[in-house]
Amino acid sequence: MLIKDASILVDGGLLRDVNIAIEGSRIMGIGPEIRDESGDGEVIGGSGKLAIPGLVNAHTHLAMTLFRGYADDMELLPWLEEKIWPLEAKLTAEDIHWGTKLGCLEMIRAGITCYNDMYYIMDEAARATKDMGLRAFLSAVLFDMRPDLIEDAEPFIRRWKGDDLIVPAVGPHAVYTCSEETLYKAMDLAEEHATMLHIHLSETRSEVESFKKNCGNSPVGYLDSLGFLSDRVVAAHCTWLSPKDVSIIGTRGVNVAHCSISNHKLASGIAPLDQLARAGANICLGTDGASSNNSLNLFQEMKTTAIVQKCAHSRPDLFGAREVWRMATDNAYAAFGLDLGLRVGALADLALIDLKKPWFFPLAEENIVSHLVYSIQGGVDTTIVAGKVLMRDGVIPGEEAILDRAQKQFEDLVSR
Ligand SMILES: [Zn+2]
Repeated sequence: MLIKDASILVDGGLLRDVNIAIEGSRIMGIGPEIRDESGDGEVIGGSGKLAIPGLVNAHTHLAMTLFRGYADDMELLPWLEEKIWPLEAKLTAEDIHWGTKLGCLEMIRAGITCYNDMYYIMDEAARATKDMGLRAFLSAVLFDMRPDLIEDAEPFIRRWKGDDLIVPAVGPHAVYTCSEETLYKAMDLAEEHATMLHIHLSETRSEVESFKKNCGNSPVGYLDSLGFLSDRVVAAHCTWLSPKDVSIIGTRGVNVAHCSISNHKLASGIAPLDQLARAGANICLGTDGASSNNSLNLFQEMKTTAIVQKCAHSRPDLFGAREVWRMATDNAYAAFGLDLGLRVGALADLALIDLKKPWFFPLAEENIVSHLVYSIQGGVDTTIVAGKVLMRDGVIPGEEAILDRAQKQFEDLVSR
């Protein structure tokens, strides 16, 4: 396959009229004179378009797309206890399947080619994701109150280990829902199978305060005392941290999945991102579930992250466009060990953005990343994962049937 005459980002600037040759799942050549050696004859016109490496959604609960708009404008705990958990208790494999496909559609439309998820009935999420062609790190969520889930964590890893798109991981929900025994079990599993660990950490002030009262330690201090924290961990939120917590997270090289919009919509707080970055944490961006965001769009996350952090520090010079762009791309590739980027040999996970949109004008060498972070309102029209075209010129085959089915699935779920 050849993407012809596209523009690409080089050191934050724009390089025009570049061909990208893809063979199998990898990029085999990039440059003005590159030709297609794959022999499949497939050509995608890239003129007037920008090719970007795929964005990575570092924290979500994808099937929660079915709960989008179901219970807005509430505080986290009553929102979970009164609305979300009762509905989640009724979830079937079919709900997960269609909720996941609905989420995949939305992410394909936003140039996201890989996501990191923690939820229920993950075999179904994995099958749906494979059908859609996206790449995913999937953790079956672990809670003390569901021993069956803890028991199935290892079989789940064995079922999916070695898959070309699905990477199984271990997802203890949080320190306030998992005992020490469960956390140790999660660590052992991750060690034995060399997987990532995915956990919610210090999301709300009340959660952190009550944990401190009960345990005499912060959630971060406690996890560190267990030896849990390392660069294998993706910790979602990290909103309420003491300076000591920040230093621990940085020293351990933890990957922080910052979920700006979810944190602000639930009024959970503003994460100390600047301190975390300076302490050495690797900061990535996540959308969280569509029930608390309510969209799955990393362009929105980039903009929100930048403007909220600037305002929180009264420092417009902090969190520039290039820095938050890295959070959705390079930082995430490092966190998940993804061989991604627009270069020869990398996985062919990429998106094409139509630059002929009002929000990309005027366009110059130096302002393209600024436009991608601060002004984009759409334009992703082609998405490719592992060399397979998932959306071309804005068309995703089968999209309408998935939308209809997801609608029916939601109506069925709430009437159960
Ligand atoms: Zn979450």
